[in-house]
Amino acid sequence: MRWSFTIGTIFGIPIRLHVTFLLLLAWIGFNTSSSGNQGGLPGIFHVVLVFFCVLLHELGHSLMARRYGVGVESITLLPIGGMAAMKTLPDSARAEFLIALAGPAVSLSLGTAFLVGTYHQYGTDLWNSLAKSAIATPLIVEMSIINLALGIFNLVPAFPMDGGRILRAVLWSRQGFEPATQIAVKIGQGLAVGLFLMTLFGYFNSWLGLIAIFIYFGAESEKRSAAWRTAIADALVADVMQTRVQTVHPDETIDEVFHRMMESTQDHFPVVAGDETVGLLTRRTIVTAMQDHQMDRRVSQLMSLEIHYCSPLDPLAQIVQLMDQRNLPCVLVLHDDKIAGLITSRQVWRYRWDKQQEVNRS
Ligand SMILES: [Zn+2]
Repeated sequence: MRWSFTIGTIFGIPIRLHVTFLLLLAWIGFNTSSSGNQGGLPGIFHVVLVFFCVLLHELGHSLMARRYGVGVESITLLPIGGMAAMKTLPDSARAEFLIALAGPAVSLSLGTAFLVGTYHQYGTDLWNSLAKSAIATPLIVEMSIINLALGIFNLVPAFPMDGGRILRAVLWSRQGFEPATQIAVKIGQGLAVGLFLMTLFGYFNSWLGLIAIFIYFGAESEKRSAAWRTAIADALVADVMQTRVQTVHPDETIDEVFHRMMESTQDHFPVVAGDETVGLLTRRTIVTAMQDHQMDRRVSQLMSLEIHYCSPLDPLAQIVQLMDQRNLPCVLVLHDDKIAGLITSRQVWRYRWDKQQEVNRS
């Protein structure tokens, strides 16, 4: 996800923090320190605590995903919660069901464990003291409440939240993937609109309004990716890739590459020196160079060093998802360590278009 940076790695999974999350911390720090004698730290401490619980929740999803062969790209912490980005969609309803359930299961188990711990430590008198505000809430009670709330909130069947995914998995096992997604999206968006209206009329905190917007558009993008998945379900990279690939040399000028781009159907160019691929020159870079009057610059000065590779036998759906998630313009196809082709959204769209025509004809 853009605008986020890695703060560490757990079980080999990069943990990322979205910049808006730091803004939230700053905002809370500022608000609590300017609104009284409390100081900025306790507020920030609570936010960090909540997000530690969110992280455990996301790790639940991630470890279950791995068990089902679904790679985990990263976990990102946003102000509205966490998100574990999977490299692929689960390939069965059972896998999706268990992966979606694992997060709330972690939260509810932790919440229950802390609740039992609370009972052992304080007995039932605690609730009376808390109700009378006689004592400050102990940490263990907060941990219990946070985790139980996380577990229950995420089970609301508002796709693409966990509860919605569980719902889709159940429908998927009965009606197939695409119809199940359609229904889950309708329910998710319906609930999101309802929630948004209720926050507008002041029934809920405006934070929930933000989450409603997130759910609505999240469901929309899941609907699109489900349609893609169906269209390209059986395709391999080799079926779709552009096979006649021109490469460019690092010492060429952008102007020279621009002319090649105009004369061919190729938008992105692998940069090759000797036998080695050293970079990638994308259409966007070429166009930007043109706008900035930098056509005499060398390829080596402007090329991107971030290159992604795949094999001709990789499932196309997996590569499309990778391109979506990382916002990649192009993935190079390697066969026997040589560039055998490249995949851009143009090839994928064409493939999908051809498929559609086939369906229309039959
Ligand atoms: Zn979850």
